[in-house]
Amino acid sequence: MKVVMAQRILRANDQVAKENRERLQRLTTVNLISSPGAGKTTLLEKTIAALKGDVVISVVEGDIYTTRDAERIAGQGADVVQVNTEGLCHLDANMVGRALDHLNLAGTDLIVIENVGNLVCPAEFDLGEDYKVAVLSVTEGGDKPAKYPLVFRQSHAAVINKSDLIPYTDFDLETVTREIMTINPDLEIFVISARTGEGLEKWCAWLRDRVREKKN
Ligand code: MG
Ligand code: ZN
Repeated sequence: MKVVMAQRILRANDQVAKENRERLQRLTTVNLISSPGAGKTTLLEKTIAALKGDVVISVVEGDIYTTRDAERIAGQGADVVQVNTEGLCHLDANMVGRALDHLNLAGTDLIVIENVGNLVCPAEFDLGEDYKVAVLSVTEGGDKPAKYPLVFRQSHAAVINKSDLIPYTDFDLETVTREIMTINPDLEIFVISARTGEGLEKWCAWLRDRVREKKN
């Protein structure tokens, strides 16, 4: 597994994001954003396993210090590059561009960027991705979309994860879904338990369709 260290940004983020987008024009790229512990890595592990033999996924793992998530992804047999942000709380286009240098882009259909766990500033940085996907877990409480609207406004899809735990929380799926739709009526919403696999098929079908659409 390769590890890329963050460097000082020398050029404007949007310019580098544009260059990343040009490099990735044949590929579909998804930027996963959530607070810590929402289950991005587990969702990604299950997604890689479910799409195996169908969609080749490569992963850019953003983490502040450790390589634990990248090791989990490598365990699924996916090509993965770890970006160590060295204390920074988000990925930027420059870090992603350097990570792309280490991936086999020609052999990849879908790149998933797992952003640093943080619901605030990752939403402000274009990485050159096609889709931002917000992940919200039911154990975080249903007030997150209203408190952090930018990430939901910028995203194309939202995953409500840990749905198997709904009976043990005060999470009101109907109310939260309504609030998310108020912020962004165009969002695709997936209710998933990455742990049990509930709802995973619909999410994987959406990804498969996005990959197919981009190739054609
Ligand atoms: Mg993770
Ligand atoms: Zn940040």
